[in-house]
Amino acid sequence: MPAKLIDGKILAMSIRQQVVRDAATLLEKGLGIHLVAVLVGHSPAARVYADNQARTCRDMGIRYSLLEFAADITQVQLNTELARLAADTTVTGIMVHLPLPAHLNTQETQYAIDVLKDVEGVNPANIGHVVYGHTIIAPCTALATVELIESTGVPLRGAEVTVVGASRIAGKPIALLLTERQATVTLCHIHTRDLFIHSQKADILVVAVGKPGLISAGHVKPGAVVIDVGINRVTTANAQGQLVAITVGDVDFQSVLPVAGWLTPVPGGVGPMTVAMLLKNTLRAARLVHKLEKPF
Ligand code: NAP
Repeated sequence: MPAKLIDGKILAMSIRQQVVRDAATLLEKGLGIHLVAVLVGHSPAARVYADNQARTCRDMGIRYSLLEFAADITQVQLNTELARLAADTTVTGIMVHLPLPAHLNTQETQYAIDVLKDVEGVNPANIGHVVYGHTIIAPCTALATVELIESTGVPLRGAEVTVVGASRIAGKPIALLLTERQATVTLCHIHTRDLFIHSQKADILVVAVGKPGLISAGHVKPGAVVIDVGINRVTTANAQGQLVAITVGDVDFQSVLPVAGWLTPVPGGVGPMTVAMLLKNTLRAARLVHKLEKPF
């Protein structure tokens, strides 16, 4: 029997509906929700992303502002702007679009984002809180991955989980959140000697590398849950023999489908859930700022 598909779009939709309800509850109490996105430089791609974000937030009842700075802003100036946003009581959420120009330090910038307003969960302090087991706000892709796994009903406690890819934004936070849920987690990276050994034993396999086709049927334990975080643009020939650009994950979908028990599609799996988790985090940040929830 082929794997059941985990539909990230449907799950994301139900989270978005909850966000709309939660936003309405805050607004009825006269408590604002205001997300400020910081964009340094003039990247057309980032601009399109920001425009989409603005539309999404508007649909949810969330006020959204894009704060744009010239590409030559200094680190000190950027940190000062982030400190100003931290002090502004009308701002409940802050995010910084990446990548930043090369002269700016990403980690120093993320460190300057107020911990309670850090809707992407990227401030090292927020990662540290995940390590200590009392999450304030966790990174969106990691939260999305956990939600997708939990939607299958496959228990995480005691499960063998292999995470392939160990970046700060994806693999490491995913491994941390799954460890927190009492899974036995193996984290693989470029220097892992034999990926097969680790992937084949996994009840749950999460792949976040950025290499199309890295994981094929032979890597997967029959019946496993496979979460494909990868997003890769590749060129392929369509039925008419024309070259077209499509989006694929890191998992060879067609070969893994008959082996896995559950599988996320790309697109339509982790991607829409990551956006939904950003919205959910935005509500969490607003409740923290308005002192309706405690950080601990
Ligand atoms: P990244 O920063 O390039 O990290 C990739 C990780 O994979 C690194 O830890 C790297 O190790 C490791 N790696 C490289 N080749 C490997 C191999 N052959 N076997 C095992 N590990 C290997 O990328 P990222 O930002 O984490 O993103 C990974 C993928 O997820 C990308 O396709 C990205 O577009 C996607 N992504 C999707 C979402 C979403 O919302 N769906 C969010 C974030 C990222 P080294 O560092 O040692 O080289």
